[in-house]
Amino acid sequence: MVAKQQILLLACYELGHQPLSLAWPTAVLRQNGFAVTAVDLSVSPFPQEAVETADLIAIAVPMHTALRLGVTAARQARQANPQAHLCFYGLYAWLNADYLLAEIADSVIAGEYEAPLLALAQKLAQGKSVEGITATSTGSVQAVSTPTHRATPNISRLDFPLPDRQTLPGLDQYARYMVDGEAHLAGYVESSRGCLHTCRHCPVVPVYNGRFFIIPQETVLADIRQQVAAGARHISFGDPDFLNGPGHALNITRALHREFPDVTFDFTTKVEHILEKRHFFPELANLGCSFVISAFEAVSDEVLAHLDKGHTVADMEEALAIVAEAGMAIQPTWVAFTPWTSLDDYLDLLTWIRDQNLIQYVPAVQLAVRLLIPPHSALLENSCVPDWLGPLDAANFTYIWTHPDPLMDQLHQQVTQLAQAGNGDAYATFAAIEQAAYGLAQKPRPVWHKPLFPDLPPPRLSEDWFC
Ligand code: SF4
Repeated sequence: MVAKQQILLLACYELGHQPLSLAWPTAVLRQNGFAVTAVDLSVSPFPQEAVETADLIAIAVPMHTALRLGVTAARQARQANPQAHLCFYGLYAWLNADYLLAEIADSVIAGEYEAPLLALAQKLAQGKSVEGITATSTGSVQAVSTPTHRATPNISRLDFPLPDRQTLPGLDQYARYMVDGEAHLAGYVESSRGCLHTCRHCPVVPVYNGRFFIIPQETVLADIRQQVAAGARHISFGDPDFLNGPGHALNITRALHREFPDVTFDFTTKVEHILEKRHFFPELANLGCSFVISAFEAVSDEVLAHLDKGHTVADMEEALAIVAEAGMAIQPTWVAFTPWTSLDDYLDLLTWIRDQNLIQYVPAVQLAVRLLIPPHSALLENSCVPDWLGPLDAANFTYIWTHPDPLMDQLHQQVTQLAQAGNGDAYATFAAIEQAAYGLAQKPRPVWHKPLFPDLPPPRLSEDWFC
C-alpha cells in the first residue's frame, strides 16, 4: 500500500505565522495513509535526515520571499537526496513554473493544491509516471506540471479537512499580537481562497482569475478552536479578501465571539468593501476585531487606475473614517514605487500619511515596497510594451523595470536602507525617509515635530507585512 511513501513538506516563510500551507496538505495526505513530515524552515533548521529519506519533497511557495528561500532549500535537498521527487506548490510556483521546471523542480502545482499533491503522491507510491496526472478527487483536472507537460492551476473546490497542526512548531515560535504594550500568542486561519477581484498587480489574479472558494464555517471554527487551545489570544483571518463572502465572514466572526468572547481578530479587505459594507464595521468591532489591513497602494488616482484597484484617494479617506468610527485601527499597505509614481506622488504619499496621523500605522518597510511584476502578471497583458519594462529576470522571479525618472530608483534604494536601519521609532524613521525624499526633490522638508507624547502604537502583529 501507499503508507511507506515518505513525504516531506517544507514551508519557507509565511509572514511570521504557522503555515497553513503545511497544515492543510498534511491533513489530506495523512488521511490517505501517507507518512508526512512537515517542517517550517522559517523557525526550524534544515531537516537533513528527513530530506535524505524522503520519496517526495514538496515546497510551499505562496509568496515571492518564500520562493527565493524555497529554491535555495530545493538545491540543498537535491544535493542531499537526488532520487527524491521535488515539487513546488502555491501561487508563485505556477507563476514561475518555466524556470522551476527547467532548473530544479520535477513538478509544479498551483491553485487548490491539496488534491493534485495527493494524486502525485499516489502515483509516485505506485511507481507510475506522473506525466499528465489527474487529481482523482477533483474529477478530470490535470493540475500537475512537469518538464514535459504543462497543466493549468487547479480551480476546483476541495473537501476541506481540519488543518493538521499537530506536528508544527508551537505558536510561541511565531509573530505575536501586540496591544497596549503586551505581546500575545496569535493564530492564523483562512475562511476563503482566491479572490473575486482582478487588481492588475496582484499575484492571485493569474491563478484564480476572479474566482474564490468559501471554506466551510465549521472547518474554520474548528481550526480557530485548536489554536485557541494552543494559547492563541488573537486570530488573523489571512484570506486574500475577508469580505469577498460578507455573510460568511459575519457568521464566522459571530460564532467566534460567542465561543471565545475574549479573543480578538484582524482581517484583510479592500477599500471598496469597507465602503460597501460600512454597516458591518460597528458589529465587527463589537465582535472583537481590533484592526483591519487594507491595500491602499497609492495616493494618486492615476496610479490607482493603472493598478485597477477600484478605489480613489477620496474613497481611502472615507474608509479611514468608517474604520475609526467603529473604534478599530487600520493598517494601510502600499505599493510605494511603481513606474507611474512620480517623485511628487511620493512626497504626497508621505504628506498624506502624516496628515492622516498614520505614521505609527505604516511600518517603514511599506514605504519601500516596489511593484513586483512576476511572469503571467495581468500588468503584462497590454499589447504595447511600455518603455520602462525590461526583460524577465527568471532567476529572481520578476520582470525588470526601470523608473522613467532615475531619481525614483535612487530614492527606492535610500528608503530601503532607511527602513532596514530603523530602530523601532516610527517617527524617526519616517522623518529620515522624508528627509531623503525632499532632499532628492530639492525641496525644503515641511516643518513638523514628533509628538512629545505619541499615542501607544496601534494593535498589530509583531511581523511587518511584506511579500
Ligand atoms: S482585492 Fe486584494 S487579493 Fe483581490 S485581486 Fe485585489 S489585491 Fe489581489
